[in-house]
Amino acid sequence: MLLDTQTNLVIDHEIEQFFDSESKYTYEEYIQKAVQHVKSFLDRDQFYSGDFASDFGSKRHLIASNPDVRLDIKEALQEIKELYLDHTIAFHHPTYVAHLNCPVLLPAIVGDLVASSVNTAIETWDQSTSATLIEQEMIRWICAEMRLPETSDGVFTSGGTQSNFMALLLARDNYAFKHFGLNLKENGWSNVVSKFRFFCSEKAHFSIKKNAALMGMGYSSVIPVVTDDKMKMKPDALVQAIEKEKQSGNIPIAIIATAGTTDFGSFDPLETIAKIAKEYDVWFHVDGAYGGSYILTETHQHLLNGIEQADSVTIDFHKTMFQPVCSSAFLVRDTKHFKYVSYYADYLNPLEHRDVACPNLIEKSIQTTRRFDALKLWFSLKMTGAKTIGSFLEKVHYLALDLYYSIKNDLYFETVHKPELSTLVFRYTTPGVATDTIHDTINLYIKNTLFKSGQASVASTKLDGKIYLKFTLLNPKSTIDDLLNIIQMIKETGGKYEIHN
Ligand SMILES: *Cc1c(COP(=O)(O)O)cnc(C)c1O
Repeated sequence: MLLDTQTNLVIDHEIEQFFDSESKYTYEEYIQKAVQHVKSFLDRDQFYSGDFASDFGSKRHLIASNPDVRLDIKEALQEIKELYLDHTIAFHHPTYVAHLNCPVLLPAIVGDLVASSVNTAIETWDQSTSATLIEQEMIRWICAEMRLPETSDGVFTSGGTQSNFMALLLARDNYAFKHFGLNLKENGWSNVVSKFRFFCSEKAHFSIKKNAALMGMGYSSVIPVVTDDKMKMKPDALVQAIEKEKQSGNIPIAIIATAGTTDFGSFDPLETIAKIAKEYDVWFHVDGAYGGSYILTETHQHLLNGIEQADSVTIDFHKTMFQPVCSSAFLVRDTKHFKYVSYYADYLNPLEHRDVACPNLIEKSIQTTRRFDALKLWFSLKMTGAKTIGSFLEKVHYLALDLYYSIKNDLYFETVHKPELSTLVFRYTTPGVATDTIHDTINLYIKNTLFKSGQASVASTKLDGKIYLKFTLLNPKSTIDDLLNIIQMIKETGGKYEIHN
């Protein structure tokens, strides 16, 4: 008897671990306690503790799970505070200006919590019902903002990289089918595909090349087109590159324009590129992972003119719509092109049971089980609103401009572009020192020193082989003084390097 009772006790305890009708109070308690701990993360005075991998050596036992010890919620949260919350990078902190990570909207966090708790898998109607309609509506909304036609459609993806993958895949398979009658999805590789060429600016995101390689076409299938002094693709150079490839016997199949390059935030001339794409009868993809959301602004909408002619579009809500990772979409001008990724599995979505009113989104995705990432965007649009999100984007753009004007004539800095979006690429220079290699070393020293000390996180990048620093501004609550404070740290750190060396 005793044994039975004990077993039951254990089982009761285990049963409490699930999200269900019997665990309501435990659920509430866990979430409330977790929220208490996460709040401490918001009170940090630095963006990062300054700890390196080696500093976690003494905490190895916390990282590993011990099969003999079971923690309660308080203990587990205390461990994760010590291990993670007190150390990790805080994107909301005004001294974090490195990469395309945004502070997140509170409504979006609520959406994520609801989606994770309910755990909807968005792949088939019978696993998601109205969640499918919500994702479709978010897609319809953004397609309408982009002024894409009625035939347009889209799907949520894990990020810009995956969206760009889908763009290249659809472009390739569509070209192969349209011009050579090839069904690559059914039959696989054909030699002519080795001649297919993609064109994008030399400042395009690396995922274009990476995806071309993943598709078996190699980096060399991507032809980089030179940019002008504003870091925008040069249309005449694009035409020349296309002609040159044709003369070599290769086959241009797609142009990828970037709306907001990762480093410079520059917009390729979409309308002109759209015309060129039409002329050569090739796929026109717009990578708007960073700049696509600026369709919601008054300041930048005109830079996206031409996107309505795109065959496909990448947009990252987890960059410029202040959503937690992941939240991203791939849009396509004509929904029928999703046929290149559709698969009809007997156990999930047999073709004979296809029902337009109750769609199975798996037919549009390269994933199977997929998170309900559209829900956080739904909360954000309902509670924050698209107009307000647009105003946040304008704010970070003006911050970048302010910063540019503040350092443009400073002898200690060299700027290379006027920000078109919300990044600023520049470098610290010591007046009188002309050698690039010294400047490279000092700028890397500045970046690493500020990071290691937890003072500020600034990114670096290369332009014409030289190292530059980069601010990526995505926090609308930052002020110019916050940024000038980092600029001051950069000057002081740069100055110290000279003294010590
Ligand atoms: C960030 C970025 C990507 C990649 O997006 P992920 O969401 O990180 O996969 C693609 N293109 C551009 C222009 C980007 O800035």
